Amino acid sequence: MRFVLNEVFDAPALWASLPKVAEHVDPETADAILEEAGKISSGVLAPLNREGDEQGCKWNDGEVTSPEGFKEAYQTIVEGGWNGLGGNPDFGGMGMPKTLVAQFEEMMQGANMAFGLAPMLTAGACLALDAHGSDELKEKYLPNMYSGVWSGAMDLTEPHAGTDLGIIRTKAEPNDDGSFNVTGTKIFITWGEHDMAENIIHLVLAKLPDAPKGPKGISMFLVPKFLVNDDGSLGERNSFSCGSLEKKMGIKGSATCVMNFDGAKGWLVGEENKGLAAMFTMMNYERLGVGIQGIGAAEASLQSAREYALDRIQSRAPTGAQQPEKAADPILVHPDVRRMLLTMKSYVEGGRTFSTYVAQWLDIAKFAEDDERRKHAEGMVALLTPVAKAFLTDRGLDTCIMGQQVFGGHGFIREWGQEQLVRDCRITQIYEGTNGIQALDLMGRKVVGTQGKLYELFAQDVANFLEENSGNDHLRPFLEPLAAAVERLDDVTEHVIKQAGDNPNAIGAASVDYLDLFGLTALGYMWAKIVKAAAPQADSDTSGFYSGKLKTARFYFDRLLPKTVSLAEGIRSGSDSMMALTAEEF
Ligand SMILES: Cc1cc2nc3c(=O)[nH]c(=O)nc-3n(C[C@H](O)[C@H](O)[C@H](O)COP(=O)(O)OP(=O)(O)OC[C@H]3O[C@@H](n4cnc5c(N)ncnc54)[C@H](O)[C@@H]3O)c2cc1C
Repeated sequence: MRFVLNEVFDAPALWASLPKVAEHVDPETADAILEEAGKISSGVLAPLNREGDEQGCKWNDGEVTSPEGFKEAYQTIVEGGWNGLGGNPDFGGMGMPKTLVAQFEEMMQGANMAFGLAPMLTAGACLALDAHGSDELKEKYLPNMYSGVWSGAMDLTEPHAGTDLGIIRTKAEPNDDGSFNVTGTKIFITWGEHDMAENIIHLVLAKLPDAPKGPKGISMFLVPKFLVNDDGSLGERNSFSCGSLEKKMGIKGSATCVMNFDGAKGWLVGEENKGLAAMFTMMNYERLGVGIQGIGAAEASLQSAREYALDRIQSRAPTGAQQPEKAADPILVHPDVRRMLLTMKSYVEGGRTFSTYVAQWLDIAKFAEDDERRKHAEGMVALLTPVAKAFLTDRGLDTCIMGQQVFGGHGFIREWGQEQLVRDCRITQIYEGTNGIQALDLMGRKVVGTQGKLYELFAQDVANFLEENSGNDHLRPFLEPLAAAVERLDDVTEHVIKQAGDNPNAIGAASVDYLDLFGLTALGYMWAKIVKAAAPQADSDTSGFYSGKLKTARFYFDRLLPKTVSLAEGIRSGSDSMMALTAEEF
C-alpha cells in the first residue's frame, strides 16, 4: 500500500495540490493511519472472522445479536473514529482523502468482510446525508454517525424489486409537522438491525402518494430506529422492526435483515422524487468500496496460499529434486502452482493499484478547486466506477478460488479459511448492482450513451503515459503490448457504438465481455505504472520486493493481457447467437 500510494502515484503530491485535503493529511499522518489500520485489522478484526462465520447473527423477537466479540470490536472502531475517516470535518468527520481511506477499507474487508460491512454502510449513509440532507438533519445525525455511536443502513431492495427500483411499493405519507410515515417491506438489508450501536439510521427509498411511476418517482427518507429528541438524546422506538434474518452462503457474521416499516416516522433527504439520483451520488464511493472488498478477500487468500505453497511438499520439480533432503519438493516448484499464485498476485497488486487510481479521481472530483480539473475527474469516475466494482470482484472471486485450489483438498476444508473466503467474496459480484448491471452501465450509459466521449478520457490518459515514457528503457518491453491492447479496446468500443445504432441487443450482448476487456487493459496500464516505479530500485534491492514486481508484470503481459484478444473476437460476433434460441429451446 505504501508502494502504491507513495511510489506509483505520489499521493502526497496529489494531497498537497488539493487545499481541503492538505489541511488534514500529510505523509506522516497517512503513514500513522495505515499502521494503525493494519494493527486493528490483523489484531482485532481478523481473529473474529471465523467465529463470526460459524456463529452468525441471532434473531430473537425482532432483536438481533451479533457474533461474540463483534460488539467489542465495533467499540474499537468507534474509539478510533474509523467510521468518519473520510467524513466531512464540519460535522466531526476526519476529512481524509479516498486514496487513503481505500487502503483502510481493503485491510478491514480482507480481515473480516462481514464485520466491515457495518462501517462501510455507515460511511455510505453519511455520504448521502452529507450530500443531500438539510442542515438540520446533518447537524442532528452526522456527528453521531461519523463517530459510529449510531450506525447506518441502506434500504433499497424489496421482495419484488432489486435491480428495477422503479417498481418499489414502500410508501411515504406526509404529516403536518413536515415528517413522513413510511410503510413497506424491505429485504436483504445489511446490518439493518443489530446490537453494536446505540441507534441505527436507515436511509429508505419510498414513494410519495402522488409520485410519478418508475425511477423518477422515488424519494429518500431518513428513518431512525430510535427517534432523536431536540437535545440529541434518544426518544421512543420508531415503528419498524426486523422481521427475520436471511440464511445465506457467506458473510454469515453480518445480519441480512427483512425490515418491516409500519408507519415509521421519517424525514425527506434531498428533493421529492429525486431519491434515486441522491442514492447514486454515494454509489460511486460504495461501488468502489465493493470492488475493494473483492481485492481484500483476494489478498487474504493470496497471503495464505503463498505460505502454503512454500510449506506443502508434494512430488518433485520437473527439472529434478530441489530439496533432495526432503521426501518431496514444495509445491511452489510446479509450473501450474506458480501459474495460480502469479495470477493471484497479478490481480491483487494490479487491482489495488487500479482501486487507488480510481480513488485518486474521486479525490480530484470532490476536492479540486479548478472547475475543469474537477469535471475531467468526474468523467473518469463515472467511466471507471462500474469497471472497479465488477472487474475487481470478478477477479477477486477467481483469485479466492485459485487460492482454494492451491490448497488442494485442504482448500475445501474449513480449517484453512480458504472456503470461507470463496463464500464471502461471492456476494460482492451480486450486491450494490449485479456485475451484469455494472457492465450495462459501462457499455450503455457511459460508453454508447456519450458516444465514446467518456471513454476518450481514459484512452487519452493511457496515450499520455505511453508518450511521456517512450524513452524509458525499463518500460520498453511493455509499451508496445499496452498500446496494442488499448488500440484493440478503441476498435471494439467504436464497433459496439456503431452496432448499437441499429441493434437494440448489441449493448447487452457485448457488455460483460467489454467490461472484462476494459478491466484487463486497465490493469495492463496499472502494471506498466508499477514497472515504472519499481524498475529503478530493482537492482539495488535485496528483499525481492521490486524485482518481484517486475517479474509479475512480465507474467501479466505474457499470460493475462492476451485474454483481451479472444474477448475482442467474441464481442465482434455480435448478438445473433445470443438471441437466436426461443424460450422453448432453452
Ligand atoms: C447478502 C446481501 C446483502 C444485501 N444488502 C443490501 C442492503 O444493505 N440494502 C439493499 O437495499 N439491498 C441489499 N441487497 C440486495 C442486492 O443489492 C440485490 O440482491 C441486487 O441488487 C440484485 O437484485 P435482485 O436480487 O432483486 O435480483 P434481480 O434484479 O431480480 O436480478 C436477477 C438477475 O437478472 C439480471 N437482470 C435484472 N435486470 C436486468 C436488465 N435490465 N438487464 C440485464 N440483466 C438484468 C441481474 O443481473 C441478475 O443476474 C443485498 C443482497 C444480499 C444477498
